Amino acid sequence: MSVPPPRTDDDVPAYWQALGLPGLIDVHTHFLPPNLLRRVWEYFESAGPLIGMEWPINYRYDEDERLARLRAMGVRAFTALVYPHKPGMAEWLNGWAVDFAARTPDCLHTATFFPEPGAAAYVAKAVDDGARIFKAHIQVGGYDPRDPLLDDVWGLITEAGIPVIVHAGSGPVPGAFTGPEPFEAVMDAHPRLPAVIAHLGLPEYDAFLAMADRYPNVMFDTTMAFTDFTMRGQAPSARLVGRLPDLQDRLLFGSDYPNIPYAYAHQLEALARLDLGDDWLRAVFWDNAARLFTLTAP
Ligand SMILES: [Zn+2]
Repeated sequence: MSVPPPRTDDDVPAYWQALGLPGLIDVHTHFLPPNLLRRVWEYFESAGPLIGMEWPINYRYDEDERLARLRAMGVRAFTALVYPHKPGMAEWLNGWAVDFAARTPDCLHTATFFPEPGAAAYVAKAVDDGARIFKAHIQVGGYDPRDPLLDDVWGLITEAGIPVIVHAGSGPVPGAFTGPEPFEAVMDAHPRLPAVIAHLGLPEYDAFLAMADRYPNVMFDTTMAFTDFTMRGQAPSARLVGRLPDLQDRLLFGSDYPNIPYAYAHQLEALARLDLGDDWLRAVFWDNAARLFTLTAP
């Protein structure tokens, strides 16, 4: 049986039901303090010339409505990927994320960090506070992931076995320390780090996917990959698609909701049309994240 992919957000629940799933788990969604989220939206909506494509935000709604739309599609668990773009910001974001997770039971409590004195201490506190996932944004943060101020942070996260979503690829535009090499040095120092490479490593897909062979806990999120928007600019090779069946257990569905320039349903469609089979889709949309975060069907 192959289930026709959803065309609109309204079609999404019927789609996962037809796959026999209890819903979706989305590991790559952004919830931020409102002023900061507005600035992120302003950046994307004005960055067309830099990125090379217009990037209108499809879900420019207040927080209640953004949550309601996500839940209406049957997203049972999601994240609040906070990330700092400068020093002195991560600890404040982590405080906001504690409150957000407390009032949003279907959110996987998220935390972040920046290379700065005190980072290991506030990361240890985030672990104690119950963080389920971390976010490291090397592109926006503009920092070197090999910075000695992060040694203890990577060590703590490895020891705690908490997944960390790492935006290390050079998409949509390169940063000072993006690309596979700087982050690979982190993996060499912490080979068991449960890193989730965001966007399948876009656009350096091949080099990032190769890390799966060397580091047992590395996983990948599908965020924005294979969408029409991405295929226009930084399309993955046919060889990459050929690797995805082998990586079936190490791929996590992610969307970048709400900061996307197309309908949420299109991310599902973009994965479904790879034609890798319903088992592969079930692993990506639910099973792998359910296992990673020990989530059970509602
Ligand atoms: Zn993102």
